[in-house]
Amino acid sequence: MKKELIFIGPPGSGKGTQTKLLEKDYNLPHIDTGSLLREEVSKSTLEGKEANKYMENGQLVPIELVSRIIKNRLKKSDCIEGFILDGYPRSLEQAEALDKIFEEIDANKDVQRQVFYFEVTQEKLIQRLINRRSCEKCGAIYNIKTMKLADENVCEKCGGRLIKREDDTEEVAIKRFETYNKQTAPLIEFYNRRNWVTTIDADEDIQTIYKNIKGAIKENVNS
Ligand code: AMP
Repeated sequence: MKKELIFIGPPGSGKGTQTKLLEKDYNLPHIDTGSLLREEVSKSTLEGKEANKYMENGQLVPIELVSRIIKNRLKKSDCIEGFILDGYPRSLEQAEALDKIFEEIDANKDVQRQVFYFEVTQEKLIQRLINRRSCEKCGAIYNIKTMKLADENVCEKCGGRLIKREDDTEEVAIKRFETYNKQTAPLIEFYNRRNWVTTIDADEDIQTIYKNIKGAIKENVNS
């Protein structure tokens, strides 16, 4: 059965860390709109230049742009067995656009869809974002405060350079939370009505969260 796993949660709630682990375990592509957009920005494409105006202010990039990128990505052949969506949808409008994409890509297919909602206290989040670094080569994510790295600039997995995202400042982080609360949080109710949502306590440690997600995926497969 095709598996479509959707991850929703505020910035810094740990979705990226978990979805990267799941990608390996389930052999499904991890599709992260933030990274896809940052790629466009770093290549200075027209889309990237347009997206960056919103990204540097912690706002959502216009729906036409992000939905086009996601639709093209979900049509690729590596998504035939399913995918892990991280960072899309982020508004009711995007959830409706995603329903249309589902109709197009999943006609007559047996599909298992689940939404994982990462619930976490907001005080923790700003600290996590400010201390977050990621490897520019392999994408590994670190917290320089809680993980004791030998060198705060070097990835322990591949030796790549660790970078701080431009929007991981306190000022932009606060704006990203406002955007999340206003536009993304209502999605939980939207998907709850379909019974797709599993709430994950994202204050737990990485391994516990991982175990909880895997348990929830398995249960639904077997039921
Ligand atoms: P993230 O890496 O998920 O924190 O995303 C970084 C930024 O990319 C966000 O603050 C938005 O500006 C933009 N972005 C990511 N995903 C979306 C989306 N689904 N819709 C609109 N903008 C997005």
